[in-house]
Amino acid sequence: MMHNVYISIGSNLGDSLTTIKSAISQLKSFCSEVKVSSFYRTKPVLYLDQADFINAMIYIQTKLEPYELLAKLQEIELLYKRQRIIRYGPRTLDLDIILFDDLIITEDKLCIPHARMHERAFVLVPLCELNANLYISKYQKNVTELKNMLSYNELAGVIKL
Ligand code: ADP
Ligand code: MG
Repeated sequence: MMHNVYISIGSNLGDSLTTIKSAISQLKSFCSEVKVSSFYRTKPVLYLDQADFINAMIYIQTKLEPYELLAKLQEIELLYKRQRIIRYGPRTLDLDIILFDDLIITEDKLCIPHARMHERAFVLVPLCELNANLYISKYQKNVTELKNMLSYNELAGVIKL
């Protein structure tokens, strides 16, 4: 069965735009369809003493199951020498599963919908660009309603390239 999945991609170390474009091309080996939002320059959240990020949202159709997809995404992160030194700190590449059909999984290793999607402008702004009416049952709201709950400051930190 084909699954509809949204993946958030981000980078703020090295040549972020090149890394992101190249990582997206890697997805094509296991996805039948890949659509990418605009690229955004975004202010870091939580850990502020680091460079701005480049972020985008990716819609894919894939036959992979959630944990198989997570493993593939972690392989791609490793290709770009992803290192986790500081939580929420600088990274060459971050690939997070935001939504997987309308599945709900609540485990440390895999939480879907992504645990912080509803409070992150760098997730919601590009997600609304791809599919403004997308309904999230966990929040009983669509993604535009979730985005509209963010503050002016949070939204101002996300600028289309
Ligand atoms: P974050 O993305 O939260 O800044 P990391 O990329 O270092 O941090 O992810 C840490 C762990 O989060 C991963 O090892 C992974 O198992 C787990 N994880 C939980 N839910 C998800 C998800 N929806 N997508 C990707 N990773 C997830
Ligand atoms: Mg991650």
